[in-house]
Amino acid sequence: MKIAFISPEVYPFAKTGGLADVSYAIPVALAGRGHDVVIILPLYKSVNKERYDLKFKYWDLSVPFNKENNNAPVYETLHLPGIKTWFIESEYFQGSNGQNRDAYTLYSDDPVCFAFFSKAVIELLIKSEFKPDIIHCNDWHTGLVPVYKKIYYQNNDSLRETVTVMTVHNAGYQGIFPKEFLQSIDFNRNIFNADGIECNNKINFLKGGVLYSDIVTTVSKKYSLEIQKEEFGHNLAGIFRGIRDRLYGIPNAIDKEHWNPSIDNYLEENYSAYNITGKSKCKRKLQRHFEISENIDVPIIGSISRLTYQKGIDVLAETLDYLFQDDDFQFILIGSGDYGLFKQYERLKKIYPDRVGIFFGYNEELAHTIYAGIDLFIMPSRYEPCGLGQMYSLCYGAIPVVRATGGLDDIIEDWDPYSKRGNGFKFKRLTIDDIYSTLRKALRIFHKRSEWNSIQRNAMSFNYTWDEAIVNYEEVYRKALSGISIKK
Ligand code: ADP
Repeated sequence: MKIAFISPEVYPFAKTGGLADVSYAIPVALAGRGHDVVIILPLYKSVNKERYDLKFKYWDLSVPFNKENNNAPVYETLHLPGIKTWFIESEYFQGSNGQNRDAYTLYSDDPVCFAFFSKAVIELLIKSEFKPDIIHCNDWHTGLVPVYKKIYYQNNDSLRETVTVMTVHNAGYQGIFPKEFLQSIDFNRNIFNADGIECNNKINFLKGGVLYSDIVTTVSKKYSLEIQKEEFGHNLAGIFRGIRDRLYGIPNAIDKEHWNPSIDNYLEENYSAYNITGKSKCKRKLQRHFEISENIDVPIIGSISRLTYQKGIDVLAETLDYLFQDDDFQFILIGSGDYGLFKQYERLKKIYPDRVGIFFGYNEELAHTIYAGIDLFIMPSRYEPCGLGQMYSLCYGAIPVVRATGGLDDIIEDWDPYSKRGNGFKFKRLTIDDIYSTLRKALRIFHKRSEWNSIQRNAMSFNYTWDEAIVNYEEVYRKALSGISIKK
């Protein structure tokens, strides 16, 4: 199949979170299975043109948008194996408002950027020699691609046979904008209604993508059910219920080339489930790095996260206040996003300088070092569509302690000492009590060596790779192509 994969961020060119990893892994796995894949993303200021050897593909792509013909040069790199990656350049992406944002909130105050990008994607596909069978869109930023395609390019010969697939990586971010922007993104009021892109009297990009694409996927089975409920659907639960016959949950997976402690170049010493001794060295290195007490017998709890309300780290900070008084452990956090949330941890660092290590910012190498050095990985998310952190931590033998929601619930099986099954610890409610008691249980078991070794072995045997996951995407693509009729 020919697949155009459209995403606001793709590793390694632009990454602020899990979406970039997934937007790298799916195309690479598809190409590995013989599909013809093109990735398209915006050319942000931060993309390093020299490092990735970007070459001009078209200098004269013209995009009719907001009553003007906009010139949008296109660059190409062959940096990813077997894949053409195209970057669309435009003054719309040159603003400084991208700084310190994660992918979900990037340009979330400016509807025009990603509306323009979405239209430019279609113009680029029409202009290029690449005629996709599938346009695979990801999250709200690309939600208008199926909408523009349907409204403006219905009769275009190049795209007549092309179907659209929309993946919802996080329904909590929808691209919601005042209706006054309708004209500047090339729509009129005909589409601003319950069957179109209107939601609560505002423009909603994600809703457009969901209603106008042929098939919708989310990133775990549990989440595909959760978003049909008011609590998780963020005002779109009814919309998701309405398309449930073309809604599929396909769990994300692990890229074993980048997330594998036996070959990871960032680590002090490599290790595996068969020989885990190197993990102690990684732990010492981590303790030295954060200048906390160097002692491998003290368990380290770690968190690597976007700092946002979704991740539940506000309740975690409150819990740690109590736990530090009652148990012997260290805590490490790296995160970017809301500095207000980070301040709670700065406070803890002041009180327990030898036991707490924190870093505000994004750092890929440090993230690898942390997964390798910690013993327990905590993810107390309010909701979690899939989550990659818990999968990476499994691979690195850092036992996940998670709230039972979305992909966390799908992937983590609670440890049962009798059957010796389970790869982590789960709690139900996002409360101080639940987090406290689950972490205390995990800390207790850390000191029972044989039990701990069993959990670690179970965790490190996690082997759900993209090769497996991709078969499900192929199936969905085939369904879309076989003419499942679009609701609109
Ligand atoms: P989300 O996509 O909601 O941010 P995921 O768990 O799916 O959450 O993915 C998060 C990804 O981003 C993981 O690869 C994690 O290691 C990485 N990550 C998050 N914050 C940071 C950070 N501050 N520095 C480095 N990596 C980070």
